[in-house]
Amino acid sequence: MSEPIKRIVIAGGGTAGWLSACRLAAWSKAEKRGLTITLVEAPDIPTVGVGEGTWPTMRRTLAEIGIDEADFLRDADAAFKQGSRFDGWVTGQANDSYLHPFTPPPAAPDPRQLLAAWRRQGDQSFATAMTPQPEVAAIHLAPKQRGMPSFAGALNYAYHLDAARFVAMLRSHAVDRLGVTHVADRIASVEGTDTGEIAGLKLGSGMNLPGDLFIDCTGHAAILIKGHCKSDWVDLSSVLFNDRALAVQVPVAARSPIASQTISTAHKAGWLWDIGLPDRRGIGCVYSSEFMTDGEAEQTLSAYIGESIPDAGDVQPRRLIFPTGHRRHFWAGNCLAVGLSSGFAEPLEASAIVLVELSLQALIDNFPADRCAMRIIGRRFNDLFTTRWGRIAEFLKLHYVLSRRAEPYWRAHRERSSFPERLSELLELWKGQAPSSYDFPLAEEIFPAASYQYVYYGMGGTLPPGLPEPAPSLMIQLDQMKQRGRALLASLPSNRSYFDGLCSGAPNGREATA
Ligand SMILES: Cc1cc2nc3c(=O)[nH]c(=O)nc-3n(C[C@H](O)[C@H](O)[C@H](O)COP(=O)(O)OP(=O)(O)OC[C@H]3O[C@@H](n4cnc5c(N)ncnc54)[C@H](O)[C@@H]3O)c2cc1C
Repeated sequence: MSEPIKRIVIAGGGTAGWLSACRLAAWSKAEKRGLTITLVEAPDIPTVGVGEGTWPTMRRTLAEIGIDEADFLRDADAAFKQGSRFDGWVTGQANDSYLHPFTPPPAAPDPRQLLAAWRRQGDQSFATAMTPQPEVAAIHLAPKQRGMPSFAGALNYAYHLDAARFVAMLRSHAVDRLGVTHVADRIASVEGTDTGEIAGLKLGSGMNLPGDLFIDCTGHAAILIKGHCKSDWVDLSSVLFNDRALAVQVPVAARSPIASQTISTAHKAGWLWDIGLPDRRGIGCVYSSEFMTDGEAEQTLSAYIGESIPDAGDVQPRRLIFPTGHRRHFWAGNCLAVGLSSGFAEPLEASAIVLVELSLQALIDNFPADRCAMRIIGRRFNDLFTTRWGRIAEFLKLHYVLSRRAEPYWRAHRERSSFPERLSELLELWKGQAPSSYDFPLAEEIFPAASYQYVYYGMGGTLPPGLPEPAPSLMIQLDQMKQRGRALLASLPSNRSYFDGLCSGAPNGREATA
C-alpha cells in the first residue's frame, strides 16, 4: 500500500467549502480516522452569496454534522421548504400553477395505478390527489409540529436559508467543535508533483499548505481543478439557455407569513424565484441574455416586487453571470471539485447544494485508503457524477419542453435539437407508460420518478392509454391520506408561528403567536 490519505486541504470557504469541512471532520471524528482538515479562503474574495433553497437531504447532512435543527433554523434565519410552485410555466395565464412537492405519491408497483386513481378525483391536480402537501404549503403551514424531534416531519421537507448566515454558522461549528484549521489567506499558486498531482498550495503570506487530498471549493474560479488539473468544461448552454440572474433581498414585516414553498414564476425569457425567510424575502430574476436585455430583466424584477411587496421601496439588485455546464473530470489526481468549481446549472430545482452533499457522501462512502485506491475511486466518481449531471440537465429541461408559451425563448426551448437525447427517449416512452423507477434506477437519484411525475403531469403531460382499474388498497391509502391531510391542516402550526415559537422558547408554535 502507498501512503495513507490523512491531510485534507479544502480551498475556498463558501457553502461548498464549509459543508465539506464539517462533513469530513465530523465523519473523521466519529470513525476515529485521524484526518487533519485545513480550510483556506481568501478574505478579500467574496462567496457567491446566493443559494437559499435546499433539498430534503439537508436534514441528514445537518444531523451527520452534529447541528441541532432548532439552532440551525435560528442561526441561519431558515424556514421550511415543502417544494416548488411553478406559476405561469405552461400557458402564462392567471390560473396556470402547479406544485412539485417533496412528499412522494403512495408506493404503487405500477405507476399507472396512481394516474387511474387521480382521474377518479375530479379536477384536482395530480399533486393534490397524491399528497396533502400542496394544501398544507398553500396556507404557509410548517411540515411538522413543534413537539416533533429534530429533522422528523409529518411531511417531507427541506429548508430555505440565508446563505451568508449559514456559512458563518458552519464555519464556527467546524472550527470550534470539529477541530478544522481555518487559514484566511489567498492562494497564490498551486505546487505540483512530478506526476502532476498537487503537492501543496502556496499562499499570499508565503506559507505552504501541503496535503494528500485537495478539495477545490473555489467557486467559478476553479483554481485547482481547472487551473492546475486542466479538467475541461462540458458546456450545457445549448440545453439550458439561462446565463444571468439579478438578486435582491427585501426585508419583511415581523409576523408576516413565511411561504413554505419556493415560488418560481415564468416570464418571457426565464423565471423569477421568490424565497421566504423569517426576516426577508430573497427574490431574483433568472434570464437568458440571448432573449432579454439586462434592462428588461431589471424591469421584470421590479414589476414583480412592486406587485408582491408594494412597500418594498427602492432595491438595488446584484447581477450574477453564470456558465451552464460541468467539469469533464470532477476528480483529477488528488483533487476533487465540489460546488461551483465542479459545475453549475440554473437554480431552478435547487440542484447545486444537494450535489455538494452527494459529492461528500460519495467521498465518505468510498474514502481512498491510499493513492492507488484514489485513482480507481476517482474514476468511478467521475462516471457517477457525469451521469448525475446528465440527469440534472434532463430534469431541468423537462420544465421547459411541455410549456405552451409562445415567446421566442419558450419556442426555442421546445426545439427538439435542444433536448438531451435521453429526455427525448423518455418523453416518447411516457406517451405509453408513466415515469417509473425503471427510468431512474440509480441508488440515489437526485430527482426520483416521483419528481418527474409531479412536473410532467403538473404541466399537462400525456396520460398513457388504457389505464387499469386502481387497486382497492391504493384507493384506501389515498382515502386515509385525505383524512390525515384534514388533521394536518387543523393541527400544524404556521411556518411563522413555528419559527417565532422557537425563538421565544414557547412549547408550541401555534400558541406563540395566538
Ligand atoms: C443566481 C444563483 C442562485 C442560486 N440558488 C441556489 C439555490 O437556491 N439552491 C442551491 O442549492 N444552490 C443555488 N445556487 C448555487 C449556490 O449558490 C452554490 O452552489 C453554493 O453557494 C456553493 O458555492 P461555492 O462554495 O462552490 O462557491 P463560492 O460561494 O463562490 O465560494 C468560493 C470560495 O472560494 C474562495 N476563493 C476563490 N478564489 C480564491 C483564492 N485565490 N484563494 C483563496 N480562496 C479563494 C472565496 O473566498 C470563497 O470563499 C445559486 C447560484 C446562483 C448563481
